[in-house]
Amino acid sequence: MSLYRKIDGDTDLPDEVDVVIIGGGIIGASTALELAERGHRVALCEKGEIGAEQSCRNWGWVRRQGRDPAEIPLAIEAKRLWPELRQRVGAETGYVESGILYAAANAREMANHEAWFAKTRAFGLESKLLSAVELANMLPGTGRHFRGGLYTAQDGRSEPSLATAAIAEGARAKGAVLLTNCAVRGIDTQAGKVSGVVSERGLIKCGAALVAAGAWTRLFTGNLGIHFKQLLVRATVARIEHNQRVPQFAVGGTDFACRRRLDGGYSIAVRNANIVELGLDNLLLARDFLPAFRAGWRELQLRLGPNTLNSFITARHWPSTEPTIFERIRINSTAPYGDLPQKALQNLVKAVPGFVGARITDAWSGMIDTTPNALPVISALPLPGLFMASGFSGHGFGIGLAAGRLAAELMTGKAPFTDPAPFRFNAG
Ligand SMILES: Cc1cc2nc3c(=O)[nH]c(=O)nc-3n(C[C@H](O)[C@H](O)[C@H](O)COP(=O)(O)OP(=O)(O)OC[C@H]3O[C@@H](n4cnc5c(N)ncnc54)[C@H](O)[C@@H]3O)c2cc1C
Repeated sequence: MSLYRKIDGDTDLPDEVDVVIIGGGIIGASTALELAERGHRVALCEKGEIGAEQSCRNWGWVRRQGRDPAEIPLAIEAKRLWPELRQRVGAETGYVESGILYAAANAREMANHEAWFAKTRAFGLESKLLSAVELANMLPGTGRHFRGGLYTAQDGRSEPSLATAAIAEGARAKGAVLLTNCAVRGIDTQAGKVSGVVSERGLIKCGAALVAAGAWTRLFTGNLGIHFKQLLVRATVARIEHNQRVPQFAVGGTDFACRRRLDGGYSIAVRNANIVELGLDNLLLARDFLPAFRAGWRELQLRLGPNTLNSFITARHWPSTEPTIFERIRINSTAPYGDLPQKALQNLVKAVPGFVGARITDAWSGMIDTTPNALPVISALPLPGLFMASGFSGHGFGIGLAAGRLAAELMTGKAPFTDPAPFRFNAG
């Protein structure tokens, strides 16, 4: 089973466009769609296939619930955009307003939900705090004792295997050029400003470029002397099949998560099992990430792995005249970690017994790109004409459409629909 719907790239490299987007995940594709709809000439360069890294490997939750207050305006705008996307791009995206439930295992988790609820009341979201009894009614027969929960009936889910390809093809229908297997090696400048993008197929002249390169953004901008604080975390997901009646809403607790898929199966995960493969960047950025590590240590497991050595030998600087790592690793397809798929199913069955008898049919992992404050950067960079939309810290699928809108507005000098200050690049 393929994790993503493969779409054919265009064959001809344009000589000149207004904007080149570097990276064909949901963020790059959404920005391309916005720009093309606004009449700008856009080329989207993807080193591998559209939507084949994080954007197809995620859980598919589209939520406002639980987000950092700074991100909620993006989540509210995305909530407006998702339901109309199918019609906007003329393709299935799997979006359903199915509800999202967080189950709190203990007083500490419940207190976190209560604190979030109090902090975000002013946004007028429909989220509800649930008592232990209300929670138990939503998960009949649960073998766990939950202290309560948080539920937002109007949050939902979409299909990661379909959404990004649909958005990219929608952008193409409105004039964008999609270049797949087309890695960008570097940026061309004239008079201190962006004048083009150097791809493996040649130069595309442009006045503006957006780095939406997901887990590769730090490496890419580092070559330009722009230091983006970004670390990678590996997360494992499995697909299961079974015939019983179980929740339509997505649900997550301390150590389990599940979301119904469009193909009838479920995507499941161990919620608190993010693997940090230690490497050079962990050392270089240790001080910046220490507060985040302290706050989230329960969800992180530190390991040595193949990336540990690779991080020390990967070239950090290169000329645009030679093939780069972006051409060597077209798609970063990491394997599921250890026995996490089996643990995910065990934990899920304890919490939601309706899943008894389900079987695992597939498993994979993805590299989540995180920033020190877990907020993305959607911003101009210190090189005039260069912009970034990256560092979505495990939350970018649900807000991707809105992030693309904000990035397009910043790049074209239009009034942004929300205050971009929380997402400003800060090299400090
Ligand atoms: C296991 C997991 C679960 C998640 N669950 C959720 C969830 O439920 N809800 C949610 O909102 N978010 C979730 N996320 C996060 C979400 O998937 C990401 O935030 C989002 O997909 C990021 O999109 P992106 O476009 O920035 O990155 P990506 O999808 O990784 O795309 C970046 C693209 O850039 C390309 N690229 C890199 N360098 C170059 C180059 N030099 N030239 C050309 N192309 C280049 C890459 O090949 C890649 O395709 C999850 C992530 C994971 C891994």
